[in-house]
Amino acid sequence: MAIDAGAPSEARPRQQGAAGNGRRLVRWYGRRRRDLPWRRDVDPYRVWVSEVMLQQTTVSVAGPYFVRFVRRWPTLESLAGASEPEVLAAWSGLGYYHRARNLLRAARQIRERHGGRVPADAAALRDLPGVGAYTAGAILSIGHNLPYPAVDGNVSRVVARLAALRGDPARPAGRRAVERVVRAMMPPGRAGAFNQALMDLGATVCTPRQPRCGACPVSAGCEALRLGKVDRIPPAKPSLPARQVDLAAVVVRRQDSCLLVRREAAGLMRGLWEFPTTPARGPKRASEVARRLGARLLSRTGEVRHTITRHRMRVAVYEAAPAARRRGTPARGGRVLVAAGEPAGIRPPEPSRRLATSEGPAAARWVSLERLAAGEGPALTGAARKIARMLRSRTSPGRPRDLGELPS
Ligand code: SF4
Repeated sequence: MAIDAGAPSEARPRQQGAAGNGRRLVRWYGRRRRDLPWRRDVDPYRVWVSEVMLQQTTVSVAGPYFVRFVRRWPTLESLAGASEPEVLAAWSGLGYYHRARNLLRAARQIRERHGGRVPADAAALRDLPGVGAYTAGAILSIGHNLPYPAVDGNVSRVVARLAALRGDPARPAGRRAVERVVRAMMPPGRAGAFNQALMDLGATVCTPRQPRCGACPVSAGCEALRLGKVDRIPPAKPSLPARQVDLAAVVVRRQDSCLLVRREAAGLMRGLWEFPTTPARGPKRASEVARRLGARLLSRTGEVRHTITRHRMRVAVYEAAPAARRRGTPARGGRVLVAAGEPAGIRPPEPSRRLATSEGPAAARWVSLERLAAGEGPALTGAARKIARMLRSRTSPGRPRDLGELPS
């Protein structure tokens, strides 16, 4: 019988066989677990870093970042002593930079309030910036081996199928139902292995489309399979339509360096660097931006495409050169190139403003294009990184030059 995910507690999912499924999963995990960098030398700090990286990032992408990150900051104490630009630069390319900022803030909070030890307490963990129910559950179960569920999208899907839960497991009632099933299945003393087994099963066997039920270690105890409802559990969600965003980026070049501005406005990309960007498709706005930067537009160099969630950005790239020196013109070691008040001219209208555009840059700097293309230098927005690579591929190599930050 299928179980209603939103049903009251007296209609709990049947637990018969749940414990058996849990034991089978742990045995399967012992034989088939994925060899992942964060599964070597497990400790709560490493678990936490890995789980934060894995939010909105695939395992294959996060792996090398994790290795570099924990090599550079092997302990929570060392991370707590890092600066935000350092952490953002190490995060560059992973996207969703609020995760890195929260990680750093939380590390400092742990150093101050918990003596530098990642808490083994759910309430204390949830009190940290960026730590939600899933991350807290993963740290508690994998890092501390305490009996807490760690329910993400993969685990929700697997458990919804195993127990044939009705309704959307992402909604609060559905999530509670999933957690009840997880607790019923969890073998005593094996919380970490069990939760990771569920994660691995969801990633490799019980996938969203075409799950490999023939290779599943718990197929004998799967209610969705028994009822022939695997393809209907969980129910499909209507997808939001993609949104096209047209932008123009102005690359002011000087020798082998180019000009970057830092995003200052609140939002996911605050603190990242980008080429001055404006919502536009043609050269008119780009020319206006160049003029305000004390530069003159030369040519349209190409286009890059970048997607963030459902926003599909199409960025026309224009190159520009510093115009003759005058007040407000970019100058080596000189004054800030964007005078107070001027940025209003490149402030884009809502709603694309929070996506990929400059909002009143308070800092600007010249950076070697070669360094940018190599992934060095300040942390860039995803679109800016693609532009740097595109420009570099069209420019003959030169001696790297980074002319440093312009005083504001
Ligand atoms: Fe998923 Fe199929 Fe295994 Fe059920 S039997 S848990 S649907 S892979």
